[in-house]
Amino acid sequence: MHDDSHQDEWSLETLAIRAGHHRTFEQEHAEPIFPTSSFVYESAAEAARKFGGQEPGNVYSRFTNPTVHTFERRLAALEGGERCVATSSGMSAILSTALGLLSAGDEIVASRSLFGSTVSLFDKYLGKFGITTRYVELSNVSAWEQAIGPNTKLLFAETPSNPLSEVADIPALAELAKRSGAFLAIDNCFLTPALQRPIALGADLVIHSATKYLDGQGRAVGGAVVGKHDVLEEVFGVVRTCGPCLSPFNAWIFTKGLETLSLRMKAHCENALTLARWLDQHPAVNKVYYSGLETHPQHALAKHQQQGFGAVLGFEVKGGQTGAWQVIDATKMLSITGNLGDVKTTITHPATTTHGRLSDAQKEAAGITPGLIRVAVGLESQADIQRDLACGLDTLAAS
Ligand SMILES: *Cc1c(COP(=O)(O)O)cnc(C)c1O
Repeated sequence: MHDDSHQDEWSLETLAIRAGHHRTFEQEHAEPIFPTSSFVYESAAEAARKFGGQEPGNVYSRFTNPTVHTFERRLAALEGGERCVATSSGMSAILSTALGLLSAGDEIVASRSLFGSTVSLFDKYLGKFGITTRYVELSNVSAWEQAIGPNTKLLFAETPSNPLSEVADIPALAELAKRSGAFLAIDNCFLTPALQRPIALGADLVIHSATKYLDGQGRAVGGAVVGKHDVLEEVFGVVRTCGPCLSPFNAWIFTKGLETLSLRMKAHCENALTLARWLDQHPAVNKVYYSGLETHPQHALAKHQQQGFGAVLGFEVKGGQTGAWQVIDATKMLSITGNLGDVKTTITHPATTTHGRLSDAQKEAAGITPGLIRVAVGLESQADIQRDLACGLDTLAAS
């Protein structure tokens, strides 16, 4: 008989395939999609109870949809959280968290190397409503400690960082958060629960852009927040009322994506480590930024805190911007795009794209040099990825 009451005993690989699906009376094997905006009742009294919340059940797909709930239960199980709220995008996951937990006058302390839109959201939009953000160096715990004040309500970090692979000490930040009565939120987009489980390390909230590795095949935009029941109730309230809800179709794509997450992440990591080692000895490369390399300053912390090193790496080539563009333009297979978390390997010049809006001084402070290239390593054959990069790099080395 179908029974998921033993879920506590299941490993991550099993949860990713079996958690969260409550089979319907149709006895379907695969998870169904419910593309319906509303639900119907047997009587006026039942409708009244469902609308009033006295009886659990589906009301309206802005806040109750069975396909979305399957994805939420499965991701909560993988992250080891009590509850998950799915959202229309990674950005709306961050927005809903902020709207749910913060008020005017509150402060955020965040790492300096954040996804660009997250910085705009904090500064330009939350700033309009009297919520201010201070930025600190991700890996410097005492800088976090100094930046925390009496009004700090949220610590926010992305680890490892993009594109320089710096690593935050999650248990140390969790300790600071607890002492100051603030929430610690970790954007776990780059590693996913297959490689890092922030809640087990002490974080209160995990944020996802499901658009990246949870889908893993570049098909749909979505997001999620995972954490304790009462905290997530505030985030759910925002999604329910303000409306950045996930569509059932996208939720179904992400649910099916989770089934292969562990396998995909292992393969992504293997490809990335092999590529990082090869780049590290290439004469046209000055420096490789990847926490899987023994020479990375936080390799030991990454090894201890993560179950893998991820698949996004940065490397600086000789010849500044001209050299970097030459290497990018010489590729024939890699996709020149800012996206990541896809089976297809992507290549980007951060200084003129993802970080293009920063001033030269800000770029220098963030380590975004003109010769820096970011590769999000996909699942093509490692030899083919390497050969594609070798075209430009070999020419550059010979010049
Ligand atoms: C892409 C991304 C986001 C935003 O997610 P969307 O789904 O594009 O809204 C947030 N954080 C990180 C680290 C990302 O890479």
